[in-house]
Parts: sequence; structure tokens; C-alpha cells
Amino acid sequence: MSLKHAILAMLSALVLHAAPAAAQDPPLRVVASFSILADLASQIGGDRVTVQSLVGRDADAHVYEPRPADVVAVANAHLLLTNGLGFEGWMDRLVESSAFKGRWVVAAADIKPLQSGSDDDPHAWQDPRIVIRYVNRISATLAALRPADAALFAVNAERYRRQLLALDADIRRAVESLPPARRRFVTSHDAFGYFARAYGFTILAPQGWSTDDEASAKDVAALIRQLRDGQVHGVFIENITDPRLVQQIAAEGGARVGGRLYSDALAQPGAPAGTYLGMMRHNLDTLMAALLAP
Ligand SMILES: [Zn+2]
Repeated sequence: MSLKHAILAMLSALVLHAAPAAAQDPPLRVVASFSILADLASQIGGDRVTVQSLVGRDADAHVYEPRPADVVAVANAHLLLTNGLGFEGWMDRLVESSAFKGRWVVAAADIKPLQSGSDDDPHAWQDPRIVIRYVNRISATLAALRPADAALFAVNAERYRRQLLALDADIRRAVESLPPARRRFVTSHDAFGYFARAYGFTILAPQGWSTDDEASAKDVAALIRQLRDGQVHGVFIENITDPRLVQQIAAEGGARVGGRLYSDALAQPGAPAGTYLGMMRHNLDTLMAALLAP
């Protein structure tokens, strides 16, 4: 063995010896129902978790149909993370067929939902202050599942909570510059109710809380009338829904489409809306630009 090889062999032996990874448990396997929860779990879990989202980015969880691979993913998960409030109507059957034995956490379990009759509005993630509750629940669960990494999860969660509070403050500051009469906008489905409640908007949507809801001709006609009367200042398509109905409403109401809002899923990785924080800032910028336009 040459001297160089001998030194290399010695160094690699030292590195192997020094690395604590060998003594660590492998990362926790987290399966999240949709991309926004997957991002939250990644932010808190860091490299101590592997996170898979069942519903993809830019995809619609309301009408998702699980695939055979999802059964395997859930069966192998340490932690299953769902939103709740009726968002993932397909989850009970998926869990049943996977014989899941891990921990199932419903992120919105302790929030007071917006309700209509017996229906809950599931889109609570559109209020960053509610997402703090999601973060607390996820970080407490990860810590319970892996006490050795609890300190890391706590640090990550605290940093993320501060970012959520900064986001909330930035939205409030921006919205202050918007006259109340301009805080009304149209989207495809009624996904922004929690955002509207937090920041003083009124949302009009041809479809209800699920993209499965049928838009009524009467509601569509009423939206077009409000646009023509100048009572509504912005019309937005969504990343997860077919834009055609909203485009038609805008055209007939004499309004321009103000851009794309991210409602129920993140954009692709690397895009501005590819993370939850990025998505909320994209939505804010898009809303402000269109609603402030003359
Ligand atoms: Zn939705």
C-alpha cells in the first residue's frame, strides 16, 4: 500500500468512527395527505424525517383517488398526517386497506372550523395563525415518536413559528393599504374563507368548499352581475382547478383574470409557491397587484 493510500484508509476509518449517524435511528417515515402538510413536516422534521405526499403538487385532494402505491406508503409510515375537517374523504378506506399501525395525526383536530350546517370548511391552512397550531401538533408528535430528536424538532418548530408570525404581520400590513371596498374577490372554489376571516376579505366562488360541488347557473349569473356593477375587484384562477368557468365569469363580467392563487396544493419544487411560506407570499402579491389596480 502506498503512503497516500494508507493515509486515505486511515482518514476514512477515522471519519467512519467519528460519524454519529451509525448510532442514530433511521429517519421517521412520514406520509402526508397533501403537499402543504408535507412541507410543514419537512420544515419541522428536517433530515430526521422522510416525507411523502399522497396528493401531488398542483393536484386536487378533494377528488383524489388513491393508487396501489399509496397503500404501501401508508402501511410503511411511522406517522400519517392529514388535515381533517372532511378534506380527505378517501382516507379512511385507504388506512383500512393498508392495515396502518403507526400514529395518525389530524392537523386541524383542535381548531374551531368555519361551518355551514353540518359541513366544515377544511381550508384552515389559509390562516397562518392556525398553521401555528398545525406546527405545534406536528412537532409534539414527532418528539413523542422520536424523543432523541425532540430538541431539534423544537428548534425547527420555533424558527418556523417565527416565520409564520412574520408572514401574518406582512399580510396585515399589506392589506391595510387596500380600501375595504376592494377586499372582495372571486375564485373557482370557496377555499379562502379562513384567509378572508383573518384579514377582512369577502370571497365569492361559483363552487363551494369542495371542488366536487356543482356551480349553479343562478350563482354564476349573480357573480357576473356583481362584476359588471363593479362590486368585486378581482377574479383569480386556482392552481388545482380547471380555470375555464372563472375565465368565462371574468369575460362576461367585463373583468380581467388577476392571476393564479394557490389554494389546496403547493407549486412544483423551486417555484416561488413551492413552499407554504412562498405560496402565501405569492398569493398576497397576486391579490394586492390585482386588487389595487385601477
Ligand atoms: Zn379546496
